[in-house]
Amino acid sequence: MDQIKIGKFIASCRKEQGMTQAVLAERLGISDRAVSKWETGKSMPDSGIMLELCDFLKINVNELLSGERIMAEAYDKRAEENLLAMRREVEEKNRQMLGTEYWIVFPTVISGLVMVFVASFTEMPVWLRIVLIVFAFVMIFTVAFIAVGIVQKAGYYECQHCHHRYVPTYWKTNLAMHIGRTRYMKCPKCGKKSWQKKVLTKED
Ligand SMILES: [Zn+2]
Repeated sequence: MDQIKIGKFIASCRKEQGMTQAVLAERLGISDRAVSKWETGKSMPDSGIMLELCDFLKINVNELLSGERIMAEAYDKRAEENLLAMRREVEEKNRQMLGTEYWIVFPTVISGLVMVFVASFTEMPVWLRIVLIVFAFVMIFTVAFIAVGIVQKAGYYECQHCHHRYVPTYWKTNLAMHIGRTRYMKCPKCGKKSWQKKVLTKED
């Protein structure tokens, strides 16, 4: 999606409706800065606010996402393209979230292991040894919990039997046996257990 084009389109529709950025912001219950960021293409309106925004601008969501008015004939094709673009963006966001998981888990596990190693093999008072080891474990466990949260929220798990894709609860994700990101869980649709793979989108 072309954010700059969308931004310019929002600005021109807003002016057509005779609203300043401040007035539009106030009606939507957000800051002027947010409106200014859309109009300069720095960010996109949240999906939660899009319908209301389109209502005020007298356009539809499809036009908003295209950054221009669309004639009726071209509408279906455009709707499809926009839907695909939105899906790609969600997919990309999920991929990035899974990427950050590695960045927080690896350094933590390594520094935790170094701490345990140092505590075990260097001369130091017993209390310091205990503090170091306890600290290392608390740190690793805390980060592991955060990481499971990221994995649970990014993307979906796919049932090997019926290929249903879904987002399991945090505890179900956390307690499931896993090899890397593949987890052994029960499918909420068909009820069968299988090794479920992480996938980035709801459909293929
Ligand atoms: Zn299933």
